[in-house]
Amino acid sequence: MSKRISILGSTGSIGRQSLEVIAACGMTAAALTAHSNSRLLEEQCRQFHPEAAVMMDEGAAADLRVRLADTDIRVLSGMDGLIEAATLPSADTVLTAVVGMVGLRPTLAAIQAGKRIAFANKETLVCAGELVMRAAREQGAEILPVDSEHSALFQSLEGCRDRGEVKRLILTCSGGPFYGKKASELQNMTRKEALQRPNWSMGAKITVDSATLMNKGLEFIEAMHLYHMPPEKISIVIHRESIIHSLVEYCDNAMIAQLGTPDMRLPIQYALTWPSRAPGPARPLDLWDCGPLTFGRPDLETFRCLDLALKAARRGGTAGAILNGANEAAVALFLADKIGFLDIADRVEGAMEQVPVVETPSLEDVLQADQAAREAVWHSAV
Ligand code: NDP
Ligand code: MG
Repeated sequence: MSKRISILGSTGSIGRQSLEVIAACGMTAAALTAHSNSRLLEEQCRQFHPEAAVMMDEGAAADLRVRLADTDIRVLSGMDGLIEAATLPSADTVLTAVVGMVGLRPTLAAIQAGKRIAFANKETLVCAGELVMRAAREQGAEILPVDSEHSALFQSLEGCRDRGEVKRLILTCSGGPFYGKKASELQNMTRKEALQRPNWSMGAKITVDSATLMNKGLEFIEAMHLYHMPPEKISIVIHRESIIHSLVEYCDNAMIAQLGTPDMRLPIQYALTWPSRAPGPARPLDLWDCGPLTFGRPDLETFRCLDLALKAARRGGTAGAILNGANEAAVALFLADKIGFLDIADRVEGAMEQVPVVETPSLEDVLQADQAAREAVWHSAV
């Protein structure tokens, strides 16, 4: 399969797994990018020989230039570099695997340049889903989900000839490492405890989001935008085993689901090989041995971040950008041991109360909402 991929965020959990998939499928890398991990980016460049390598951090870019001085790889830096990586003429697909809404501008640039987008960077859709999906429609750009739930929905929708027949999208949720606990038990949860997660290995920010269940809230908003569904037609079900990756319920009450062992390389690969499939590295699911599958309701009282995200989803406009900006800022404070686990929801709620929502936002409105929400979190008295 001859495809040329630019990976934004190639040193992260999704980025590294994407490179495994690219190598296994005989694809090539056009550009690789990272924030500050110049050592790993050098290693990846020596293995994959991209045209361009981008470090977001200027100091790290200077270091990478020295490391790659014996090669003809162009080393770029900052947001301009990221946008150049997203629009390189030789790439047909851009896999967005940076963490946070820093992915927004490069994603829009890739869409304008007519690239296929393999979308992992959910924060971008949460902040500016309408702008991104409108740009994709106007440019005829294909958006392929990498997030496992959205890939499952995508696969479960593939046999659908009339979207009007879809009754409901059902996102499955593992429940996170603190499943079953109450707020009193979460009060003193530390960074270390939050970073332990049973079913997948992920970056620090999304691991905390999985512990607060904010991740499922972000995915709810992501699904609204990807599949043009109103919030009342999306549900969340707790499914501890992470075997069913999400479901579509049709108007005749048939439910179509995608199942598999939890392995992000499967949805990553499908986003890159679609509409074909190729033999993949995920362990086959052994139905005789996988044990019972269980389902339950999410606890919105304990996991307030999920409840706040559902409120933002119903509110629309810049509410998603406010929710996301506040959450990014609050999670960063938690990871720096500056605030406690339960403070994350308090800070996000405070920002949502404080920052006014703009109904039909421009890119500028989204960026302003994001910044105002971050400031509200930093200066919160909570
Ligand atoms: P990681 O933290 O593991 O990796 C993030 C990547 O982005 C790294 O390459 C990092 O570079 C780079 N990066 C971080 N900050 C910046 C910045 N400010 N500017 C430019 N680049 C930056 O994250 P994950 O791989 O876990 O997640 C990536 C995205 O995919 C997230 O949006 C997440 O929600 C989504 N996702 C992740 C899943 C998973 O299983 N991990 C599943 C589904 C979705 P450096 O290494 O130098 O810091
Ligand atoms: Mg997911």
